[in-house]
Amino acid sequence: MNFFQYKKNELYAEDVPVKKLVEEFGSPLYIYSHKTLLRHLNAYKDAFSSTKHVVCFAMKSNSNSAVLNLFAKNGGGADVVSGGELFRALKSGVPSEKIVYAGVGKTEEEIRYALKNKIMMFNVESENELREMDRIAGLMKTKAPIALRINPDVDAKTHAYISTGMKKHKFGIPIENGLEHYKLANSLRNIEVVGIHKHIGSQLTKASPFVDALKKILVLVDTLKDNNIFIKYLDLGGGLGITYSNETPPEPADLAKKILPLLKRRDLTIVLEPGRSIVGNSGILVTKTLYLKKGEKKEFFIVDAGMNDLMRPSLYDAYHHIQPVVKNRRESVIADVVGPICESGDFLARGRKLQKVKQGELLAVMSAGAYGFSMSSNYNSRPRAAEVIVKGSKYALIRKRETYNDLLRGEIIPEII
Ligand SMILES: *Cc1c(COP(=O)(O)O)cnc(C)c1O
Repeated sequence: MNFFQYKKNELYAEDVPVKKLVEEFGSPLYIYSHKTLLRHLNAYKDAFSSTKHVVCFAMKSNSNSAVLNLFAKNGGGADVVSGGELFRALKSGVPSEKIVYAGVGKTEEEIRYALKNKIMMFNVESENELREMDRIAGLMKTKAPIALRINPDVDAKTHAYISTGMKKHKFGIPIENGLEHYKLANSLRNIEVVGIHKHIGSQLTKASPFVDALKKILVLVDTLKDNNIFIKYLDLGGGLGITYSNETPPEPADLAKKILPLLKRRDLTIVLEPGRSIVGNSGILVTKTLYLKKGEKKEFFIVDAGMNDLMRPSLYDAYHHIQPVVKNRRESVIADVVGPICESGDFLARGRKLQKVKQGELLAVMSAGAYGFSMSSNYNSRPRAAEVIVKGSKYALIRKRETYNDLLRGEIIPEII
């Protein structure tokens, strides 16, 4: 559920007409709904309220500091995957003891930065990373709190690029090597074992892969206990899907109902790392129709947002619902909605049945709050879009539209050329 709804024939973000926002802030424009963001965060908090838990928002899905600050104010932590994300999280007010850090390629600089800031834990993805962390923590005369990311070899049944929990993937430590790796971790002087982590993929539409993976992880937790290795944090990762077209993914409460019974009589703090399921349907991308073009085989709606603004259709062949900002009674056509970028892969929708639009009219690309702006780029030297948040009848800019000068920031024309 979200708060982008039509009133009469016009699309609103909460109580503000989308058209008004575009008039003020220009196009293309990312718009987020405060009420939806909070509702989705609270859905997790409520679902797991009967047990100790922390919701560490996976900020790679949306790393705007206003969004992070909103979550931090409401008890959320952060799941970071780089030093840059850690910097953003800290600057946005996320308490360091609610930050978990995953990723297969953490650098020495990044590890030092996180140790200095005393984060909750590192989710370590290989033996060599573990040894490196021990070495660095030793040099800093501290201990690194860690979980091992365990790869449970479960098929998340999602798009190949966002499935992460099988043997063939680069992520985590194969579950059959879990005990041996934990024994090593336990023997390293500057490592403190505090948790266990798994994350099997994204846009999961069924609860069963979660449950299967958790059952496997719990067997390992018991084996560890038999070996005097005790786990405090059970990090279940993220990955719950959202409705882009007609998927019916489980809600956090459905997931909790299946998971919590498995955790009875265990003194574990649950860590959750949702990204998409919190922000995905809390944001839209609004774009203006520049030109209509009738090809020999189909029609093209050429719009002012491209793959640099929203990469998911090009990268994953992802579906995003597209609807007019002002509804009309015109007939429908089959069209490709394409951007201005010089790539055939630059499309937002292909072969889509859409109401006819006129040049200058606005379209809303729905479910664009996750992996939308955060994946955007300056490809084709296009300044990145502005971002706005709406709260009831109030609204505020949370990221200025980039300027041409921003495009050149950091570039140097040296003497030697
Ligand atoms: C990407 C990622 C998440 C978030 O995934 P969503 O599908 O957006 O919920 C959580 N944890 C890790 C380790 C990730 O890489």
